Amino acid sequence: MSLQKKQSVFTFNIHLLIEFAFKNGYELTFGEFDRTVDQQTIYFKTGRSKTMDSRHIQRLAGDFNIFKNGVLINDAKTIQPLGDFWMTLNTDNVWGGDWNRNHNTIDETFKDPYHFEMKP
Ligand SMILES: [Zn+2]
Repeated sequence: MSLQKKQSVFTFNIHLLIEFAFKNGYELTFGEFDRTVDQQTIYFKTGRSKTMDSRHIQRLAGDFNIFKNGVLINDAKTIQPLGDFWMTLNTDNVWGGDWNRNHNTIDETFKDPYHFEMKP
């Protein structure tokens, strides 16, 4: 599958995630989706990101601000239903609240529950 086709599938699935979230009592606002290599370098050097191999650079990842009852949610447990739904949409999907679930080769304990991505 070409990168453009992957990006298209990712974008379609993001729309399904948004719809699911709003139907289930969450409110979302957009965080960061597309990211330049220069921006990733800043995040990497300042510790905000642990990799230079971010799916954001390939337009295959997005971060949301996630609210419930008007309050910004910080814990992965409350966001878990969105992560679980995201994982049902495509076998290549990865949720930042549980990096290991769809990756066989990494053991990542860093939680980023606002982050939804698709493997290239
Ligand atoms: Zn992200």
